Amino acid sequence: MASFQKTEAGRNLSLVVKDAYMDLHERAARGAFVIWIAINVPAEIFLGFDDVVYGVPESHAALNAAKGIGALQCEKAERIGYSMDLCSYARIDIGCVSDNFADSPTFGLPRPHLLVSNTNNCSLLTKWFDVHHREMGVPHFILDVPFCYGPQQEKDREYIVAQFHDLIRVIETMSGQRCDMEKVKQAVAYTDEGIGWWKKFLGYAEHRPSGITAFDSFVQMAPFLVARGTPRFVEHYRLLAKETGARAAAGDVPVPDEKYRLFWDNIAPWHQLRDMSAGLAALKANIVGATYTSCIGSVEGSFDRYPYDGGDPLAMLARTQNCYVCPHGMALRGKAMAQAVKRLGIDGIVFAGNRSCKPYSLTQFDQQRKMAQALGVPSVMIEVDHADVRKYNRENTFTRLEALIENIGMQRSVRMSA
Ligand code: SF4
Repeated sequence: MASFQKTEAGRNLSLVVKDAYMDLHERAARGAFVIWIAINVPAEIFLGFDDVVYGVPESHAALNAAKGIGALQCEKAERIGYSMDLCSYARIDIGCVSDNFADSPTFGLPRPHLLVSNTNNCSLLTKWFDVHHREMGVPHFILDVPFCYGPQQEKDREYIVAQFHDLIRVIETMSGQRCDMEKVKQAVAYTDEGIGWWKKFLGYAEHRPSGITAFDSFVQMAPFLVARGTPRFVEHYRLLAKETGARAAAGDVPVPDEKYRLFWDNIAPWHQLRDMSAGLAALKANIVGATYTSCIGSVEGSFDRYPYDGGDPLAMLARTQNCYVCPHGMALRGKAMAQAVKRLGIDGIVFAGNRSCKPYSLTQFDQQRKMAQALGVPSVMIEVDHADVRKYNRENTFTRLEALIENIGMQRSVRMSA
């Protein structure tokens, strides 16, 4: 089962997250310019300023869910009129703000001077940030990132870069600080180096039995939200990759008797990580990879790292704006998934239909059919909600997961007797 608690990298992860939240609160209290950003907004830009800090409401919401208080926070938003059908990240965040982060495990986020969202993933996100814009009277900058049905076009990249320049001008005007592009460049280089180690860590899933579970990788994503663009980001992922490699070489792997290698499609079910990884390990199954964690630092249609050439940092940040899966069309998502399925020797795919994240989930039935036709890999559709435990049913989920494992076993028997 997931082993992150026992490792040096697991302990370091807790420190990185704790220090990041403490630093955010302390610097905000001393007068730093505070920005709330959507998960895909490139924080490396803010590191070009001397005293700009940022908080990520989606990441804070995921932390609430992982700590078991996602539903509590969602209910606060529902009580003031927000529909239960809305994304649970939005409900958790709006619920948290409604009572000034009363139950937050991080003492919340400091009040922002600016909100920055983008259109990469979904239209709900910009509307959610607009709620804060109206309620708090804080300006809202929206980065418009074109949807991608194919590789990003040059004109789209230029369009995104132009908006980065606009964003920098807005921050300079509002904060009275100057952006040093050399610092941004250094931050992009740190992120790139850290992603190199991240990809190495994910690569241990190719071992048999796998050196990692996707559950470990879900948890280990946190530094991307709180520390990217810093030396600490690099140090953490170097530690993670090296420690994982050493443990795998010594035979210390999460599911030693691994018989079924599975792949996960969608956001992590933050409230079920421990239970799901233990339940699967008991069935000798391991979710060894996930679209959600593999896409970081890649470009559309692939999960391979897109390296920084040391040139214009804003062009690099624009080129990787589409790395996350949601804005990809069917063909690109299928291409990247097929590559991972082959590389990792996947026996079955778990499509986790997510009641909250419609953009991630909408094409999954088509993708499921496509993967069966193209690769002959069995799969199952389960129902989850990444942060609202009220929309999850353990019994139904494990019945379907067991059916998938049975199906894989039957296909193996047929192949062996042929
Ligand atoms: S619906 Fe999906 S993409 Fe949109 S904010 Fe929620 S989790 Fe993010």
